Amino acid sequence: MYFKYKYDEVITPQLFDVELYHRSGHYENYRENMYFTKIDERDFSFKPMNCPGHCLLYSSERKSYRDLPFRVADFGRLHRHERSGVMHGLTRVRTFCQDDAHIFCTLEQLQDEIQSFMKLLNEVYHTLGMFEYKIYLSTRPEKRMGSDEVWDRAEGALKSALERLNLNYEINEGDGAFYGPKLDIMFVDAIKRPWQLGTLQCDFNMPESFDLKYTGEDNSEHRPVMLHRAILGSLERFMGVYIEHTAGRLPTWLSPVQVSILNVTDDQKSYCEQLEKTLKERGYRVFLDTRNEKLGFKIRESQLNKISYILVIGDKEKENQSLSVRLPNGKTLYGLTIDDFLNDLSQEIENRELESRFSNREVKN
Ligand code: ZN
Repeated sequence: MYFKYKYDEVITPQLFDVELYHRSGHYENYRENMYFTKIDERDFSFKPMNCPGHCLLYSSERKSYRDLPFRVADFGRLHRHERSGVMHGLTRVRTFCQDDAHIFCTLEQLQDEIQSFMKLLNEVYHTLGMFEYKIYLSTRPEKRMGSDEVWDRAEGALKSALERLNLNYEINEGDGAFYGPKLDIMFVDAIKRPWQLGTLQCDFNMPESFDLKYTGEDNSEHRPVMLHRAILGSLERFMGVYIEHTAGRLPTWLSPVQVSILNVTDDQKSYCEQLEKTLKERGYRVFLDTRNEKLGFKIRESQLNKISYILVIGDKEKENQSLSVRLPNGKTLYGLTIDDFLNDLSQEIENRELESRFSNREVKN
């Protein structure tokens, strides 16, 4: 997706000289949440966010208007010292990765960038089967930096981008950060609980603190606008939310284990091993269960683990070189040929389908 939407993917350092965070303002305002260490008498901090590093990256080479928009994506690992009382499962942790990216652009480019971000977000959410979300636009607070003209322009760009895409939104008057207006995207899950995942923040401050510039068409120097944006937010937190949303039943293309293979007796063990090999060679995530347990027990365990397809192999299957397939809906298809199964499975996974391809088939006995 980053390739399609023209982002460059980068990896920035884990540790930075504390000087960087003095400059970004994090040391002053965010110190209690940061981890520090000393190396050769020099103070370093683990990065709590990627933005300052990306500003350094921006300023490492002279930029002209032709270099903009400059889009950098970074799955960098972040560390934040959350108080122990606020930590919670996967949704609040002390180290995590975000699907984080920053876009540096001109004021004129702002609207197109916002539009393209919303398209990307929509594509990601739809692929994951997350169809319902709400958008909140937070506008200028009383205490703020930057001229009214710049704020008019940024808020206007956010509004027209959403309107052009026919997206409904609500306005949170005065709720923007001091450094710029923002969009918050609240995903509404299967049982209607809202979760804040996506965000897009305009930032006039950080380009100022880092003295970021580009040479305009007029040959003079200008400040770019910086956009902080994430679609899933913290990946750890997102997984927590997504597991809740799907009740643990992930679409097959995302499922940690896609197929389990269960033998009835030892007689089918080698046929099962052969099947495992065939599936693994095609890149599927397979669990072979040839333990000496009752079949009912093994089936139940695979079901509890929400494995998409459970292949139950007895004498009949071995003899006919066929498969019995238990589907996510609990039904079983008997006598499927291996090719037939593999064909549909590969289609389902390649197309990132949300529903099982097999559930519409007639169940034959
Ligand atoms: Zn940022």
